[in-house]
Order: sequence, then C-alpha cells, then structure tokens
Amino acid sequence: MEYQVSSDALNDRVILVTGAGDGIGREAALSYAAKGATVILLGRTVSKLEAVYDEIETAGGPTPAIVPLDLMGATKQNYIDMADTIEGQFSRLDGVLHNASLLGVLSPFDQIDEKTFDDVMQVNVKGAFLMTQALLPLMKKSEDARIVFTSSTVGHMGRAFWGSYAISKFATEGMMQILADELSDTNVRVNAINPGGTRTKMRASAFPAEDSNLLKTPADIMPLYIYLMAPEGRDVNGQCIYAQPKLVPGQQKAKEEEE
Ligand code: NDP
Repeated sequence: MEYQVSSDALNDRVILVTGAGDGIGREAALSYAAKGATVILLGRTVSKLEAVYDEIETAGGPTPAIVPLDLMGATKQNYIDMADTIEGQFSRLDGVLHNASLLGVLSPFDQIDEKTFDDVMQVNVKGAFLMTQALLPLMKKSEDARIVFTSSTVGHMGRAFWGSYAISKFATEGMMQILADELSDTNVRVNAINPGGTRTKMRASAFPAEDSNLLKTPADIMPLYIYLMAPEGRDVNGQCIYAQPKLVPGQQKAKEEEE
C-alpha cells in the first residue's frame, strides 16, 4: 500500500498527539505540522514538548499548542477540562494520535506485580479511553475526524514475558475496533498503527542488546501516520495497519523480535 498524500494534506487540521515529546510521537507531531496541521503537543515532560514546539516554529509550521499532562495521574475531569480548552481555542478537533505508552517490566506472568500492571493499564488503556470519551463530542464537530491508536505486534499475538504491555495493546486494539464499528456511520474514522521495531528509547529498553542501526527510524514510518490523518485515508476504518510490512534483509532479526 502506497501512502501518498498532497504536500498540504493536513492544512487547517487540528491534531492532538500524545507523547509528543519523544520517539515516534515527536516525529509524528513534526510531520503533521510540516503537512500544515496545527498540532496540540501532549506529554508529561514540558521541556521536551517545548523543544518540539520550537522546532515546528523554526520550520515555519502553524503555531502549535502544549498540553502538559501525565496520563498516569490524569482524571476524567482533567480530560473534560482539556477538551473544553481545546474547544475554546480551536472550536474543533480533527485528529487524535494516541501514541504515549508505558512499557512496564517484561517478566514471567507469575511475577508481574500488581502496581506495574495497574500503571501500564492506566497509561496505555484507561488514559486513551477517558481522553477519547472526553474528546468525541468535539471531534464530531469536525467534517472529517480521525482517531489513531498505537498497537504492537504483541497486541494481536501474545508472547511470553510481554505481560502487562501486551495485554494493554490487546485492549487498545479492542477499543479501536469497538469505536470504529460504533462510529462507522459518522464523520469519525478510527484505526490503529503497529509501528514495528523502531529506533526509540522504548525499543532500546525492551531490546538493550540489539544494534539499533538496523531499525527503522520514526521518520521512516511516518507515511502511514500522515495518511491516516489525511483526506486520502478517509476510507480506512477499523484497521490495525503495520507501518513496516516489509523489512529489509538486515532487519530480519528485528522483525522476529518486533514489539
Ligand atoms: P518512547 O518511550 O520513545 O516515547 C513515548 C512517549 O510517550 C514519550 O514522549 C513519553 O514521555 C510519553 N509518555 C510515556 N508515559 C506517559 C505518560 N504517563 N503521560 C504522558 N506521556 C507519556 O516510545 P516510542 O516512541 O517507541 O513508542 C510510541 C508508541 O509506539 C507507543 O505506544 C509504543 O507502545 C508503540 N510501539 C513502539 C515500538 C517501537 O519499536 N518503538 C514498537 C511497537 C509499538 P517522556 O518523553 O516524558 O518520557
């Protein structure tokens, strides 16, 4: 599948990216802005969000907004207040990329501690759930809205030792499918991306011994991220799509160990 979009595909769109300060979320925020979107940068480390903000401004992109929020402690009311603020500032929201996630601890199932399980589910599942609930009324005001979740290979095929993280990604894919079905006759399209092994801090902490130079970079996988937010991707709904369906031979090992 080719993910071609026009150079101004995201002009006038308002898109919120969670975990926008680092890794794939950072690259997605920069890429959306480069295609004309006004990006709302959400994350827990303000200095990282400010650096992305500056980079967008320097590149001449539309002025972004920053929402400092830690999904670990955020309450339903925090998300409702955030939706109100976005509505006050922009009147609508055209896209949400649920990207922020916690890896937790990889361990045998019987050694998963309750706190790790709760933390991972809180950030990866409940945070995206409450945020989506709060933002949906606003997204329905857009003529063409998109919600993109982030899954993982271990989100549709269980794998030993990936416990809490994998369970959270199965839940994420379920949430995506339920929403996509419920909203299929509305203006909101709902999909998920499986980035595949990508050169980020999370990947390095899951696979500390691998050669990260063999991995795709966040920039390499952006065409799909842009496509699912662009008019060209309008007909896609309810899918979990691999961002790197084909890996070059040198990456075969990485493919076998995709997150
Ligand atoms: P990184 O750890 O590099 O970046 C994650 C971002 O999410 C960071 O900006 C981080 O903030 C933010 N974040 C984490 N926890 C919270 C929180 N509680 N509240 C707010 N923001 C938070 O991860 P990746 O870029 O690698 O991963 C992005 C997505 O892709 C994740 O959903 C991951 O599961 C998925 N994925 C990644 C793969 C890979 O190989 N990289 C493979 C498969 C899936 P801070 O900068 O402050 O730490």
